[in-house]
Amino acid sequence: MKNLNKLKKTGQNLTKLLNAIELLYWDQETKMPKNGVEGRAEQIAYLSEILHEKSTEVKLGKIIDNLITEEDKYSYSDKAFIKKFHRDYSMAKKLPGELISNLAKETSLAQSVWVEAKKANNFSLFAPKLNIIVDLLKEKADRLGYVSHPYDALLDEYEPFMKSESIKKIFDKLQTGLSEIVKKIKSSEQIDTEFLKQKYSIAKQDKFGRQVIKDMGFPMDSGRLDVSAHPFTITLGSKDVRLTTRYSEDALFSGLFSNIHEAGHGLYELGFSKEIQGNILATGTSLGIHESQSRMWENQIGRSYGFWQHYYPKLKSIFPNELKNVELDGFYRAINKVSPSLIRVEADEVTYNLHIILRFNLELDLMSGKLKVNDLPEAWNEKMENYLGIRPESDGEGVLQDVHWSSGLIGYFPTYSLGNIYGVQFYNKMKNDIVNIEKNISRGNFEEILSWLRTNIHSYGSVYSAEELCKKITGETLNPEYFLNYIDYKYKKIYNY
Ligand code: MG
Repeated sequence: MKNLNKLKKTGQNLTKLLNAIELLYWDQETKMPKNGVEGRAEQIAYLSEILHEKSTEVKLGKIIDNLITEEDKYSYSDKAFIKKFHRDYSMAKKLPGELISNLAKETSLAQSVWVEAKKANNFSLFAPKLNIIVDLLKEKADRLGYVSHPYDALLDEYEPFMKSESIKKIFDKLQTGLSEIVKKIKSSEQIDTEFLKQKYSIAKQDKFGRQVIKDMGFPMDSGRLDVSAHPFTITLGSKDVRLTTRYSEDALFSGLFSNIHEAGHGLYELGFSKEIQGNILATGTSLGIHESQSRMWENQIGRSYGFWQHYYPKLKSIFPNELKNVELDGFYRAINKVSPSLIRVEADEVTYNLHIILRFNLELDLMSGKLKVNDLPEAWNEKMENYLGIRPESDGEGVLQDVHWSSGLIGYFPTYSLGNIYGVQFYNKMKNDIVNIEKNISRGNFEEILSWLRTNIHSYGSVYSAEELCKKITGETLNPEYFLNYIDYKYKKIYNY
């Protein structure tokens, strides 16, 4: 027990250090004056270096090795704790400090180059930087090791234990199914969203958004909601989870659904059991599972008819002039309008995954060397035409649209779609377990839903892997059929196809 207690203490201390780094990051994205950027980058880099040193100390390795040999003595969650420490430690050990600092340096330079290239609509300005990043990531993959595809080594950081081969199978099914549905929707009568082309006061959007996340059960005495350029959720302690959102007068839905989405992430972070709080198991077990929590609230609940039976009268009373000619049915159809578009972050529930599948397939080929960085724009445009039937006119609305690659995030995109698929599969089970779920939603009562999520998902943190959790809850591994059935059932009604 002595070694286990030591390891727990170390885990708590590493978590404190990480929380401090995240506070610096949160401040940078929400409150920091523009000129603070250089000093902040140095502070974060130095603290990250200390965190890396402390996470890879030789004596820590010895404690972990000892515990691993006797892990059968421990409870399931202690065993999971030891295993996670072992995994994190081995991964950190495999990466030399030089590679980590090179990646940090190159990606921070690349981000400003990407911003310029995007402004100039010219991929060739960004290509040299992306070449360097791809080479560094190939080195990273080689050092981490993999069995069949270098992509797996990178993917493992975001979606532990998942392999690209499994994702490929799931995504191929999804692509075929979704493309068919998109075709049917395209040939149906289109939805009128004229009423969105008005100014919607940001103060009023904020007031409404805060009420919704409060009703969801997000406690404002253990969290905050602020504004940032890109919405995110970050954890600064077991009772301090920060959400950010963005509002625009011209885009009513964007702020609304961002709030619900991020609160879904935040509730997960606030729901870990006491036993694991403040330690390394107190984190989402994979990004896909994390995203399942945000997407479920955003889409299955937040874009459902019942949800708006409760909230539309309230929204209408806040925007009486803007919404005076729009009835609930029209509003419901508008929030679920499907239209193939060039930009991922503006995509609807049906076409969104096609954007992800495109990026996943390109990333696979980039990492295997089958695709060269310079050929990316053309490969991108071709796939857009194949998957969504539209072709970007410029790099800015094509290959340059996302920040991820400039930040070195290859292997990250698929977790968005895995989240969508996990979310629906979990929701399906929850619907069976909670008899009155639809009635509850249409009354703005989410208590039973949150309690189900806490019991079945949140409380465990990383005790179970994504696959174990999925089997434990639904009795089977990740299955895209649930998602396809959900989409087909919902949109058949909306579009009458
Ligand atoms: Mg998210």
